[in-house]
Amino acid sequence: MRPRNTFSVFLFAIIGIVVSCTPYRASDPAPAAKQTVVLISLDGFRWDYLDRPGAVHLRALAATGVRAERMVPAFPSKTFPNHYSIVTGLYPEHHGIVANSMQDSVLGHFAIGDTPATRDGRWWFGEPIWVTAEKQGVRSASYFWPGSEALIGGVRPTWYKKYNGTVPRADRVRAVLAWLALPADSAPRMITAYFSDADDAGHSYGPLSSQVDSAIVRVDSAVGAIVDGIAKMGLAGKVNVIVVSDHGMTEISGARSIFLDDYLSLDSLDVIDWTPVAAIAPKHGRDNYVYANLHGANSHLAVYRKADVPSRFHFNEGPRITAIVAIADEGWTITTHQREEKASRAPRGGGGGTHGYDNQLLSMGALFVAEGPAFKRGLRVPPFQNIHVYALLAQLLHLQPAQTDGSLDSVRVMLR
Ligand SMILES: [Zn+2]
Repeated sequence: MRPRNTFSVFLFAIIGIVVSCTPYRASDPAPAAKQTVVLISLDGFRWDYLDRPGAVHLRALAATGVRAERMVPAFPSKTFPNHYSIVTGLYPEHHGIVANSMQDSVLGHFAIGDTPATRDGRWWFGEPIWVTAEKQGVRSASYFWPGSEALIGGVRPTWYKKYNGTVPRADRVRAVLAWLALPADSAPRMITAYFSDADDAGHSYGPLSSQVDSAIVRVDSAVGAIVDGIAKMGLAGKVNVIVVSDHGMTEISGARSIFLDDYLSLDSLDVIDWTPVAAIAPKHGRDNYVYANLHGANSHLAVYRKADVPSRFHFNEGPRITAIVAIADEGWTITTHQREEKASRAPRGGGGGTHGYDNQLLSMGALFVAEGPAFKRGLRVPPFQNIHVYALLAQLLHLQPAQTDGSLDSVRVMLR
């Protein structure tokens, strides 16, 4: 439960009366209505983890707010593409981050561990919500989010952190609460935070593992600490907390491997990203050879020319999508005999879990829980796509939104 602070409600009523006497432009929202958003990402937190034993604080938050049955990620159901879809409202083919690993004819190679590329604004198209906010005079702060370290449209969050996965959860929680505690005229009103524990455990041990149960407890406690901190500061009537994830997780097995070198010569192509969606760039003049040898070769691998990727994936446009796109069936891994040999020598090689598959699969479904003064209480909504979250954030912050692939109409039902 998140106790409403009657004092703060009273205080806001007073402020509303006082401020209404001072002139402000008609286009400005009434200051008394100014709300803050804390957007928390729990990487790889599958939608149904919400009903696992450890998700105590998240269930309490959902009980007094809104929960989606699940949130549908964008395709491919990978980390960077989806974090950036959530904050831009764009499909990956429109925001440019089409994979965790990709190639651009001008910018070269992008990989998520490669910080110079991830900090280069030229990779990041569209307008993330913190840029929309800063451009309209609303301060933003980010304790990690893909894209937050890059100058996008010449703008970064007022406060941001260089990504370092070893920063303890408690430090991140403390920083978020310290931002919220700043005086109202300087505090950020759009804050992001990020925790990777559920994804790490899911990859290493699979979604059904006890290690995932432990990770759920850890990230759930971090969310609980942020919500408690907000209540203790008397800000519960002002701050909306939205907890999302980027994608789900499914089990993989070395027994479900697709070996590309069983079907063609690896000299004929470059593989920019491997699995479960292989981004395949045939070498000069080898397009037809690659397509002819891969298409229909393995019943667990769908192979498309870029223009023929089914429209529901929204994955046909832009130079960073390769000429051939191969999508593995759920639980299958795209590899080569050499890669498999290396993986099987590594600890737990070939097992565990992964994501990136068809974004409509239940196992790829993501989390959405929201609570705060703007949200209805105890509402459960049907599945919706994450491209609509940007419009929701813009509405909560009274910002003029950028053009996106999503719409407020798809999520308006959650709002009071
Ligand atoms: Zn992820």
